[in-house]
Amino acid sequence: MEKVAEFEIGSIVKNSKEIQSLTIDFPEGVGDLPRQSLLCSSGFCSEEQIINEMSSRIYDREPVKNLSGKLSIPVLVAKGKQEGQTLVVTAGIHGDEYEGMEAIYRVFENLDPEKMKGTFVALPVVTLPAFWLGIRNNPVDMKNMARVFPGSSEGTLSERLAWTLLQSVLRHADLYIDLHSSGRNYHMLTLCGYSTQGRQAEIASRAAYAFGAPVVWAHPEISPGRTTSATLDLEIPSLYTEAYGGGHVRFEDVECYTRGLANLLKFLDITALEQSGLPQGYNPRFLKGSGDIDVAIKCKKGGMFFRSVEVGDNVQANDVLGIVRSLEGRIEEKIVASQDSVVMLVRATPRIYPGETAAALTFEG
Ligand SMILES: [Zn+2]
Repeated sequence: MEKVAEFEIGSIVKNSKEIQSLTIDFPEGVGDLPRQSLLCSSGFCSEEQIINEMSSRIYDREPVKNLSGKLSIPVLVAKGKQEGQTLVVTAGIHGDEYEGMEAIYRVFENLDPEKMKGTFVALPVVTLPAFWLGIRNNPVDMKNMARVFPGSSEGTLSERLAWTLLQSVLRHADLYIDLHSSGRNYHMLTLCGYSTQGRQAEIASRAAYAFGAPVVWAHPEISPGRTTSATLDLEIPSLYTEAYGGGHVRFEDVECYTRGLANLLKFLDITALEQSGLPQGYNPRFLKGSGDIDVAIKCKKGGMFFRSVEVGDNVQANDVLGIVRSLEGRIEEKIVASQDSVVMLVRATPRIYPGETAAALTFEG
């Protein structure tokens, strides 16, 4: 690919809009990722076509060494004519969460630096190797990018990527939002979440409401390793989102995220886009919980999980959330609610291994 400018917060030109790059050393190379991607694809493309796609994002390529070089992560940058605040947005921290990617593209298309007071910085596809395979975690080092922050300049690819992202981009935000969704294997309520900790909480709670998602989820604590736990340590007001997911993208979720980003640009007084505004009669559902789906209800047996609830359902203790069947059809396990609560997340795809999350619960706020 043609080399584009490297992102550097101090050198963004006023009254400009451009696509830049955040470049990470990638000595590991793509290895057998093309073959793995072929397995994850529809099977109608060739391995060579996949290699071409991947190599288009690698600078200074060394083809003989597993297509290694420098990984180029796209950064969309727009800076207004006038000085102002900086909104930083990320999507694709997990490779199978697409709603935020499209929302970023839609907002960026509509930005006019002439009408902006401040800066918009967005990385639509952070964890490129996970995106290539359409999976959650980074296949190069098997790490969950939402558990490695603040990262390390000497670590594995995920750790280096986290470190560079935090130092070069995130720490410069006046407000940061990380756009997730429940990915290919789960459904989740469409929401905007924030931490009630520290000095940033007041701004974050107002910004979370301004985003305009159907659910606003407040977290008394945020588990370490996330993008937002790293930015919270820097006292940057930080938000994140989740959406219905399940391997596809709902129109209403992309619209919600697009409107939400436009609302945050307005919240920071950067610009007023046509897409901004709260839904008519906006009255979000307020929920409160830890927000860590990794401590949710896990199944003990593997096989097939069939859910019997929808996200958002109010459930009582011992209500059945779903069953795990063996391949012979025996009901091996009933997944039940541990207490009166709200279903926040539920497994969308039936094939499940022991230890995987079946559902997660939270509470009315
Ligand atoms: Zn995610």
